[in-house]
Amino acid sequence: MDERTVSPNAQTVEKLQETSLRPTDWDGYVGQGKVKQTVQILIEAAQQRGDALDHVLLYGPPGLGKTTLANIIAHQMGVNLKITSGPAIERAGDLAAILTNLRQGDLLFIDEIHRLGRAVEEVLYPAMEDFALDIVIGKGPSARNIRLKLPRFTALGATTRLDLLASPLRDRFGAIFRLEFYRPEDLQLIVTRSAAILDVPIEPEGALEIANRSRGTARIANRLLKRARDFAQVRADGVITQNVAHDALTLLNVDPLGLDDLDRKVLRSIIEKFGGGPVGLETIAASISEESSTIMDVVEPYLLQLGFLDRTPRGRLATGRAYQHLGLAPPSSPEQPSLF
Ligand code: ADP
Repeated sequence: MDERTVSPNAQTVEKLQETSLRPTDWDGYVGQGKVKQTVQILIEAAQQRGDALDHVLLYGPPGLGKTTLANIIAHQMGVNLKITSGPAIERAGDLAAILTNLRQGDLLFIDEIHRLGRAVEEVLYPAMEDFALDIVIGKGPSARNIRLKLPRFTALGATTRLDLLASPLRDRFGAIFRLEFYRPEDLQLIVTRSAAILDVPIEPEGALEIANRSRGTARIANRLLKRARDFAQVRADGVITQNVAHDALTLLNVDPLGLDDLDRKVLRSIIEKFGGGPVGLETIAASISEESSTIMDVVEPYLLQLGFLDRTPRGRLATGRAYQHLGLAPPSSPEQPSLF
């Protein structure tokens, strides 16, 4: 289980508490302007036709608002939302059971859809394309295929790894959206809104300090807000000022750009053990005893966004900015002349 303060993955208790902070309408859904507008058009068009929404695939790092978007879409369409995930659907029969319980227009949210098994995917294809469920009755020579009709539902897939999605599955989605990291001003709004819900007094500068250290991720912004609230309560007079936020987050080893120990460990490993790279992901992971999937899903996207890492065909390369941030002198190797 991942319990890093700046991990974008939801922690155990957090998943339950998130419900109260999760916006249920567009007014509360900050940022992601392009996705928001396009989804609004999709919804309106479907409603005008009296039809179910086309299947939608959302991708991007964890904590950017995929589940939240699913909730809002269901709310706007006035339909039920059924939430499941790739690893939770173990057998084809599990998916068949879910599908046959759907009603007309329902939204089926499949988180981590890239982790669906092959046999399960085979059931999903005709369900998405023809709203049909093919089942085999009996065994051996007397086995018969029958096709059950399903209600017109909408599949809403979410994934952190679009590259791992089989292309026949990807092709069955009518709309594919990439969620982006949030800008600090958007995160400031999210923090301010959440503070109001949690009834925590916060100054705008305090909200911005938290926003700047949230690595572009809504979930982390909400988490850091809660830690700053605790700090304000115990060490200050309860108000989250810029100083309070700064001290609280420094105590948690979250630096001004939102990097924590794991991010710095990854960068230091590339720089100090592998001369700045290029070095393969598996090698980095092994050198710091961490899962390569954690580095790929959670650490790397933000370091790439900051311009601290370059992904090359030969591996990961630390850029001049990464050296600068860690206070290290960049090498003068002819290997990386363009970076410095
Ligand atoms: P994902 O499914 O991508 O991992 P979630 O939808 O669970 O992320 O979002 C995590 C938390 O972040 C939610 O509880 C919600 O409070 C907050 N959040 C996400 N996106 C937004 C947004 N656009 N505006 C406001 N809050 C958001």
